[in-house]
Amino acid sequence: MGDRLVLVINSGSSSLKFALVDPDSGASRAADTVEQIGEPTSPVADHDDALRRAFEMLHDDGIDLHDCGLVVVGHRVVHGGNRFHRPTLLNDEVISELDELSPLAPLHNPPAVQGIEVARKLLPGVPHVAVFDTAFFHHLPAAAATYAIDRDLADRWQIRRYGFHGTSHEYVSQQAAVFLGRPTDELNQIVLHLGNGASASAIAGGRPVETSMGLTPLEGLVMGTRSGDIDAGVFSYLWRTAKMDVEEIESMLNKRSGVLGLAGERDFRRLRTMIESGDAAATLAYDVFIHRLRKYLGAYLAVLGHTDVVSFTAGIGEHDAAVRRDALAGLGELGVVLDEDRNSAAASGARRISADDSPITVLVVPTNEELAIARDCVSLL
Ligand code: ADP
Repeated sequence: MGDRLVLVINSGSSSLKFALVDPDSGASRAADTVEQIGEPTSPVADHDDALRRAFEMLHDDGIDLHDCGLVVVGHRVVHGGNRFHRPTLLNDEVISELDELSPLAPLHNPPAVQGIEVARKLLPGVPHVAVFDTAFFHHLPAAAATYAIDRDLADRWQIRRYGFHGTSHEYVSQQAAVFLGRPTDELNQIVLHLGNGASASAIAGGRPVETSMGLTPLEGLVMGTRSGDIDAGVFSYLWRTAKMDVEEIESMLNKRSGVLGLAGERDFRRLRTMIESGDAAATLAYDVFIHRLRKYLGAYLAVLGHTDVVSFTAGIGEHDAAVRRDALAGLGELGVVLDEDRNSAAASGARRISADDSPITVLVVPTNEELAIARDCVSLL
C-alpha cells in the first residue's frame, strides 16, 4: 500500500465538488459533483445529504473512505478575511471564526462552513484542513490592496482588495516556471484564469503584485454570471430608483450578469455556436468579455514593467483558442506574438503558444486546484 490520499471538498451554495487525490503522484482517484443541492425539485435536500451522496458515489467506484489511506480532508474556503492566509487545521474555534467572516462572503462562506461541519461529523477520524482562496494574495502590496475610500471606515470593516482563485494563480505560476525550467523568483508573470469565474493576476518573482478580484469575487473581468468591474453608482441607482433591495441587486450582479446577463447563456461552447449563427447579443457579450480581458492584460504589463510569461488557464483559458487569439491580437508592439498553429493545435498539458521570437512567452497551463489544495493540506500535517 503506502498510498496516502486526500479528500478535497469544495462546497458551494447549490453544488458540492469532491475529489480524492494522491498528493504524491498528483493522480486523482475520483472526482465528481453533487448538484442542485436544496433546489425545489431536487432529491438532494441539503449539504448533509450531498456529502452522503458523494460517499455513495465513491463507494460505487469501489472506494471506502474509511479504508483507502485517507489522511486528511481539505476544504476549499473562499474567504479567509485578514485572519486566515495559511492552510488551517479546523477545530470548533476556527469554524466559529469562519462563521464570523460570513458577512464578507455571504454567497460563499456559509455553504463552505456547512460542508465542513457535515464532513467532520461523517469523517471524525481524520484531520480537516481549510485552504483559502484569498491566501496567496494576502501580502499584495498596499497600493494594490487598498481601495481609495474613507480609511477609518475601511479599517473598521476590513474593506480591502483580497483577491480570489489564489490557489490556482499560485499553482499555475509555479507550473509555468517548471515548464520553462526557471525558478519562479526570476520570472514576472501574468496569469489569466478564465473559467465560469475569471480573474487575472500579476506576479513578480513569485510574489503577487496585482489581482483583479477585490473585497468579493465580483470585481474585475467579465465572468460567466458576474459583471466584473462596475461603477458602484449602479448599485445605489438601482436601489433608489428601481426600488430593488440589496439582496436582489447583489444576486443580479453575481448570478444574472456577465456573459449570461448579456447573452442569456454562460457556457462558452454554446456562446460560440450562437455567435456563429449570427446572434447579436452573444457577439456583444463576447466582445465585452474580450475587451475587458485586454484592458487588464495591458494594465498588468504596465504594473510589471517587464513581463516574461503570460499563462492562460481554467476551462476557457485552456480550451478556447479563439479567446486566446482575440485576447492577444495585435499586441506585437507590447511584446506578445502568438503562433497561431500552436495556439489552435489540439493538445493538452502545459504548452507554449507564442512564437519562438516573441519577447513574452505565452503558455497554456492546466490548473489543478484540487491537487494544490491536497498538497497544502499534507504540508501542514
Ligand atoms: P469553473 O469556474 O466552474 O471551475 P471551468 O474552469 O470548468 O469553470 O470553466 C468553465 C467554462 O469553460 C465554461 O464557459 C465552458 O464553456 C468553458 N469550456 C470548457 N471546455 C471548453 C472547450 N473545449 N472550448 C471552449 N470552452 C470550454
